[in-house]
Amino acid sequence: MFRRVLIANRGEIALRILRACRELGVEAVCVYSTADKDAPYLRLADRTICIGPPPARESYLDVSRIISAAEIADVDAIHPGYGFLAERADFAEMCRDCKIEFIGPSPEAMAKLGDKVEAKRTAKAAKVPIFPGSEGAIENEDEAVEVADGIGYPVIIKAAAGGGGRGMRVCRNEASLRSNIRAAQQEAQAAFGNGAVFIEKFLENARHIEVQVLGDKHGHGVHLFERDCSMQRRHQKLIEESPAPGVDRKKIAAVCDSAARLIRTAGYSGAATVEFLMDDKQNFYMLEVNTRVQVEHPVTEMVTGIDIVRASIEVASGLPLPWRQRDIQVRGHAMECRINAEDPDRGFMPSAGRIMTWQPPGGPGVRMDTHVVAGYSVPPNYDSMVGKLIVHADDRDRCLDRMARALAEFEVGPIKTTIPLHRRLMQTGAFRQGGIDIHFLERLLR
Ligand code: ADP
Repeated sequence: MFRRVLIANRGEIALRILRACRELGVEAVCVYSTADKDAPYLRLADRTICIGPPPARESYLDVSRIISAAEIADVDAIHPGYGFLAERADFAEMCRDCKIEFIGPSPEAMAKLGDKVEAKRTAKAAKVPIFPGSEGAIENEDEAVEVADGIGYPVIIKAAAGGGGRGMRVCRNEASLRSNIRAAQQEAQAAFGNGAVFIEKFLENARHIEVQVLGDKHGHGVHLFERDCSMQRRHQKLIEESPAPGVDRKKIAAVCDSAARLIRTAGYSGAATVEFLMDDKQNFYMLEVNTRVQVEHPVTEMVTGIDIVRASIEVASGLPLPWRQRDIQVRGHAMECRINAEDPDRGFMPSAGRIMTWQPPGGPGVRMDTHVVAGYSVPPNYDSMVGKLIVHADDRDRCLDRMARALAEFEVGPIKTTIPLHRRLMQTGAFRQGGIDIHFLERLLR
C-alpha cells in the first residue's frame, strides 16, 4: 500500500478520497487554490499545499503545479477524483514519467476507452451493444450521408474527443446532415484539438443507464451493477438511483457482464463507468466510458456495500480485487440527489455566496457527502455542487419516502439550492412510478 497520496481535487470528492486514505492508514496531502484556502476539509489533511489562484487553469488544471506539489510532498501516488485532470492521458503519462502512481487506468487504457471512436471499436470487439453508426471517424459529407442512409434518420454527429455534452448535432434529414458535418468537424477541432467526428443513430426518448466497473492490474474486472441517471437537465444529472426501476433483470445482467468484459479487454485497472442509453424496448446502446470515479458512485456503494474509492486506491497500489463477480450482490435500493448552489426557479442560475444555515438531514439510511459547513462561502470559480444526499432503503418506495423525509429536514440558506426541486420531484407521480426518460425534467419545467 502507498505511504502518502496527493489528492489533486477539491470539494466533496477531495474529502471523500481523504476519508478513504484515512481508513487505509495512508497519509493524505491536499492541494488548494486561494479560493479554497479556508475550506474546512483541509484541516483533516496531513499536509496542504497551495497551488495557485482561483482560476482552475492556474491551479487544479495546471499539470506542472500539481506535479511540483507531489514532488515537494514526496508522495507515492496522485488521486485525481473526477473532473479536472482525471481523464487526461497526458497527465497520467507524466505521473508515470515522474515515478508517481496515477490512481486510475494506465494512459494506454485511458486513451483506448476515453476516445469515443476508439471506445466503440474496443466495445465491438468485447461484444458490448453499441449504436448503429459509422465504424470510425467520418471523412467527408458523402460518407456521412451513406452511413446515415444505412441506419436511418435521425442521426447525431459527435466529436471523438467530445465531453460535457458539447459538440453534438442532431440531424433529421440529408440536407441538415450535409450542412452540419463540416461545421461539426471545425467546432471539434477548435474545442477539443481533434477534428474527428462520427455519426450514430439518435434515440428520441431514451433512459440513461450506466454500469459501474472495477478492474485490477492482474487482468481481473467486475461490474457493480447499474445506475439509472435519467433525471437530467442539459445533460447534467440531478438524481441517480440503483437498481434501474422496471428493467428486465436478465437484460441488465447481460449488459453489466458486457461492461465487465470491456474493461478486461482494454486491460483497464481502477474504477470506470460504462454509459448506455436504453430505448423503450429495453435495447441498450453504449454511449461512452468514463475512465474515473463518478460523482454518483455512492449510490452503488450503498447497494453493494463496496467502497469504490478505497478499491480504486487498492488496485492502483497493485492489490488484486478481492471479489469474484458472484460475490457482488445488490441489496435494497439507493438514490442520490445532487444539491447544487443554483436557483431552479431562475433557470438554475448559480447562487454563490456564504451559507449561513446548513442543517443536513440524518437518521437511518441517510448519507451526506459534502465539504460544506455553516459559514462556508461557495466560491464562484468551480462547479456549483455543494453536496450529495444519498439514501438507502429496502425497496424503491421506501427509498423515495426516506428521501422525501430527508429533504424535508434539510435546511440551507440564504443561498438558493436544488433542494425545493428535489422535494417536488419526490412527489411527482411519473417519477415515483419509475422509468422516466432523459427529457422528463425539461418537459416538467417547461
Ligand atoms: P458527453 O461526453 O459530451 O457527455 P455523451 O456521448 O455521453 O457525451 O452524450 C451526452 C448526452 O447526449 C447523453 O446523455 C444523451 O442525453 C445525449 N445523446 C448522446 N448520444 C445520443 C444518441 N445517440 N441518441 C440520443 N441521445 C444521445
